[in-house]
Order: sequence, then structure tokens, then C-alpha cells
Amino acid sequence: MTTHVENCLAQWVNQLYRSAFISGESADFYYLNRGPGPIPGETPGVSPLNVEAVRKDFPILSRKINGKPLIWFDNAATSQKPEPVIEALAHYYREYNSNVHRGSHTLANEATDAYEKAREKVCQFIGASSPDLIVFTRGTTEAINLVAQSYGRMVLRRGDPIIITVMEHHSNIVPWQLISEQTGAVLNVVPVDDNGVLDLDVYQKLLAERPGLVALTHVSNVLGTVNPVRLMIQMAHDYGVRVLVDGAQAVPHLPVDVSELDADFYVFSGHKMYGPTGIGVLYAKRELLEAMPPWQGGGNMIRDVHFDRTVYNRIPHKFEAGTGNIADAVGLGAAVDYLRRIGMAAVSQHEQQLTAYAMEALAAIPGVRIIGTAPHKAGVIAFTVADCSLERLAGRLNDAGIAFRFGHHCAQPVLRRFGLEESLRISFGLYNTRQEVDRFIEVLQQNIDRPFPWFY
Ligand code: PMP
Repeated sequence: MTTHVENCLAQWVNQLYRSAFISGESADFYYLNRGPGPIPGETPGVSPLNVEAVRKDFPILSRKINGKPLIWFDNAATSQKPEPVIEALAHYYREYNSNVHRGSHTLANEATDAYEKAREKVCQFIGASSPDLIVFTRGTTEAINLVAQSYGRMVLRRGDPIIITVMEHHSNIVPWQLISEQTGAVLNVVPVDDNGVLDLDVYQKLLAERPGLVALTHVSNVLGTVNPVRLMIQMAHDYGVRVLVDGAQAVPHLPVDVSELDADFYVFSGHKMYGPTGIGVLYAKRELLEAMPPWQGGGNMIRDVHFDRTVYNRIPHKFEAGTGNIADAVGLGAAVDYLRRIGMAAVSQHEQQLTAYAMEALAAIPGVRIIGTAPHKAGVIAFTVADCSLERLAGRLNDAGIAFRFGHHCAQPVLRRFGLEESLRISFGLYNTRQEVDRFIEVLQQNIDRPFPWFY
């Protein structure tokens, strides 16, 4: 039983939190209610995540779909939003909506402060050395297009190879095809083995051809493979080659430190890391951002405009033409706060355990083929079921309130590598539970139609 003193203390902590972060409705969040002891940090010796408490922070998880509790297993597509993120957005629009960097009034100053504060939070979260190196974009896709069109156009010449891997999302393939058409560069693709592990011997050989750039994903959104990006960056740097890392599926699930990785470019999306849609990040090393020409022109990216010449703004503003997505940047800052308070090590540990549990249960179902069985794998599981209409199965899972993905996952080349045009895919976030996995397995088993049941 809680005593009066404990209640008062809890209220006081709540109050403090509200004034510091949301100054809105009552806050009743995981890290305030997890009991005595320090909040788990991003260090080894990780405390287990209190998932039931975390789930209370996500209002959408109490929704029913077709009369069944929602099971959100579509985190690789997008994640759900915790109350502090929703509150940060509402608070921005209720209290201090304004354009940034150009007003001389109070709201403009407040909005500018919050926007730049969000940049600082992102900077710290990914271990960047300065907020100047954080460019806000619409998301991963826009960040890659920015690098392709600005850096790519600057350095690529006819015949220059660009190295990508077979497991890239379309957004880390098509921008390089576009810039190849414009510059005459050519794409070279690193293959994977049957487990979904990259062939580093081929990578080494391709590097020896002195490519103009390497662009590779940190974590595959189909195979779940966590690539050895630190090593691959080091290998590229040995040849003087720059590397762009697509961190869309890494930043929400693992501790990421861009300085430790020594990444030249690192990109990710807010909406996959419990933040809003329409906001994402390009991190790049200072000397690269300084040297790169602007990608888009307009307000905010300039210092001085004449008809015969324009002086550009300093980085990162040089790459943020026009009015940015201010509210969603603030929301992303709130998502970063949320993840930092829980601790990425705890998030990663929880998802690893859940993935191992689900992989074992799925693999035990006759006819199930898991696509992606790398030893180092994040919480993404793509699979097919032999002699079974995947479309019908998808319908049954949806009937049971389970949200997952069916199709090519915007990564057709890697599915084709495994002889497939489509698959089912489940992907985990910090709020998913073993009970949800059990329910998913149960529904799957009930709905696998077997033309020859005795055969299995
Ligand atoms: N890269 C990877 C690995 C992804 O999983 C995704 C989204 N599925 C993207 C890039 C594109 O992200 P966005 O649509 O947010 O730009």
C-alpha cells in the first residue's frame, strides 16, 4: 500500500516533469512510475524494461481492432507515439506556434529555441560532436536524396562506382540510380549469403575499385540483419571512400553513436523512433557539410541575396530551405527524451529477447520459412508459409487485430534474392510483449490451411 508521503512525492515528481517537458495534462509515464531506484541509463548492466508500464504511455495500444486488442507488429513501417510526443505537438500548437529564425517577437523566439533545442537533443542522442551537423529533413528518404543530389553531384564522375548492398530499402537504391543517370556513375551491389549476411569479401574487392561512395543500411528492414557498419566504414576509409549509413531501422532499436562509428553520413526518420511523421535527420561530418553545395534554394538557407550572387547561410541552415517542420522537430525532441529516459540498451535488450522468442516459435511451425537468419539480427522477421495463401493469412491476422506487413516491404531486390515477390513481416518495438507473440503464433497456427495435413 502506498503511504500519503509516497503519494505526495509522486505528485511532486510528476509536477516537476510536467513543467519541464510538457506543461500540459497530467503525466503518468513509465519512467516516473517504475518504482524506486535510478532510471536505467544507456550503460551495460541493463535493467529489464517494464513493458506493461511502457504500454500505458501509448494511448493507441488500448484500441480494439475488429473487437480484439490491437497488436502493433508493424514497427518497421512506423512506430506508435507516446503521450509526451503527442503532448509536445499539442503544446507547440496551443502555446507557441510561430515561424523560426526570423521573428523579433516572443513566440518566434520560443519556437526557435524549441526547434534548436530539438536539434541539440538529436545531436546528443546519436553522439554527434555538434548540433551544426544535424540537418532536419522530411525523413530518411529525403536525407538520402539530399546527399545524392548535393554530395553525389559534387564528387561523382562518369564510370565511378557507387557501392550499395542487395538488402537496401528502395530509398537507398533509387536516389543512387537517379544520380547515376545524371553523372554516369554505376551501381555495384554487395550480395548476401542464405542467412542474409553481407559478403565482405566481395565488398573488399569492390572497394579496391575506388568507388565514389558506399551507401549501406545499418539494419535491414526485411532480413533484420544488423550489419557490421563500424568494420565496413573502417574498410571503406582504408581506401579513402566515404560512407552513408541508412539508420532508419537502427536508431529506434539500438544505441547508435555516429562518432564512434566514424560514419560520414548517417540518416534516419523520426516516425520510426516514436516521433512524428514528416521529420528526419541527416548527420554528416563538418567538412562534408561545409563543402557540399545546397540542395534546395529559398528562405532560411541564405545570408545575403543579390540578383547576381547569393551568400548561403552557415550549416546546417544551408540545407534547410524554406519553413521547416518545426512542430514535428519539437515532437522528435520529445521522442528522443523519451528514449533516453528509458535507455536504448534496455530497449535493445528487450527487443532482442522478444525476437529470439518469436523466431523460435515461428521456426517450430511446419512450413514456415524465415527470410533472414543472421546471427546478429534486430526485431524484424519476414516469413512465408508453404502451400498457404499469404493473402488469406494476412486477412485472418488483421481480423484478429494484428497489424503487420504483407508485400515487398519496399525492398524488392532482397526478396527476389530469396526467390520471393512478397512475404509477411512482423517487426517489434519497445512496447511489444511475449503474450502478443503467443497470440500471433496461435492465430497463425489456426489459420494455416493444409491441403495435405499429414504431410507436415
Ligand atoms: N531505409 C530503411 C531501412 C527503411 O526501413 C525505411 C522505411 N521503411 C526507409 C529507409 C525510408 O524511410 P522513410 O519512408 O521514413 O523516409
